[in-house]
Amino acid sequence: MKSLVLEKKDELSLRDFPAIDRVEETLTSRDVRIKLHTVGICGSDVHYYTHGRIGPFVVNEPMILGHEASGTVLEVGSDVTTLKVGDRVCMEPGVPDPNSRATRLGMYNVDPAVQFWATPPVHGILRPTCVHPEAFTFKLPDNVSFAEAAMVEPLAVGVHAATKARVKPGDIALVLGAGPIGLVTALSALAAGCARVYVTDLAEKKLEIASSLSQAITPIDITKEDIVDVIKRDTDGWGVNIVFEATGSPRAAAGIFEPLCPGGCVVMIGGQPDPISYDAGAAMVREARVENIFRYAHVFPRCVDMLSSGAIDVKPLITKTFDFEDSVHAFEIAASAPPADVKMQIELPQ
Ligand code: ZN
Repeated sequence: MKSLVLEKKDELSLRDFPAIDRVEETLTSRDVRIKLHTVGICGSDVHYYTHGRIGPFVVNEPMILGHEASGTVLEVGSDVTTLKVGDRVCMEPGVPDPNSRATRLGMYNVDPAVQFWATPPVHGILRPTCVHPEAFTFKLPDNVSFAEAAMVEPLAVGVHAATKARVKPGDIALVLGAGPIGLVTALSALAAGCARVYVTDLAEKKLEIASSLSQAITPIDITKEDIVDVIKRDTDGWGVNIVFEATGSPRAAAGIFEPLCPGGCVVMIGGQPDPISYDAGAAMVREARVENIFRYAHVFPRCVDMLSSGAIDVKPLITKTFDFEDSVHAFEIAASAPPADVKMQIELPQ
């Protein structure tokens, strides 16, 4: 099967990958076989490409990249009831051990045994077909495109973050970072009931995209304005109810409580690759709540429903689409972190 393979750090190739054919030959009674259609390029895919590792996850063997995907069902196992051949679907990339303690507690995303696409040693899905459990495969309504459906994975992070923040109607939120995760978090915070959301970045084009998403989004260009000044000015010195950290930057984390109101909530989303620290004293004097999120759990169907109803529109975030044949080139561009791009996607031949 021709696949996009990360051979090792800084080396990608589009080539046959016989090992995956052997592994995927059989599908069990609760699996479906899927023909991949669209795969988004994630910051984590790019990080494995440029660094060969994320924290404890190290690329020691050639690995197929990609985990944000949509496609069409080709074959169903004998016990599959919710999907049929020809259904258009999106897939949740992390499959936990169904019997693990974390899964039984409802926190399957933090199951230490979770198998997540394109996280070593598990292969990703930049390849023609894959086999996946029915339980982690979600049927798409006709009005959700393959491109939008491949955005469900990053959107799930934003929805999970807004859920853990316990957004109340009328809350004011601040999102640090206007990358794909920052922007889906801003959209999720609004869908959850925020009255206004501030979004920060230093790339002008990303901030333009942010403000185009909703009139309730106010961009803050951190090369021109001080975040705390803007927030204090606009909230009569009180601060925002929620700060979502989506940059992973130690500098952003260091001052994260400054724009927060007393009793507010900080949600840590970014920052897995490198350790970051924040000021616990600043959290105490506000009695701030701090939430940490790792991927998501139980939110894919909600994301699909919100895309279908129009409650959330992710189309403006998709800024470039490449053919599968150009996927090495696509990753080279993604690795250069183009300031005008939010989400780049790859389309597989149908
Ligand atoms: Zn992703």
